[in-house]
Amino acid sequence: MSGYTGDPDAEATHALILNENAIEAARAAIPKGPGSPICLDCGDPIPEARRQAQPGCTFCIECQPRHDKRQHIKMLDRIL
Ligand SMILES: [Zn+2]
Repeated sequence: MSGYTGDPDAEATHALILNENAIEAARAAIPKGPGSPICLDCGDPIPEARRQAQPGCTFCIECQPRHDKRQHIKMLDRIL
């Protein structure tokens, strides 16, 4: 089908960026500093030592890599 210029990928990317903006806005609303005393993902308490080592962290040590990976994939999505 030549002549078709609709690009569903571009729309998906646009939605992703909107979603990321919403996430960033939500993040900005989280006070910086001590972070969250409990993991925002699994609800486990975040040890104080970790919160001091990673000020502002909001995920426990088990959930953090999952979120890092997800962000990484999103970044790749945006680039590609
Ligand atoms: Zn967790």
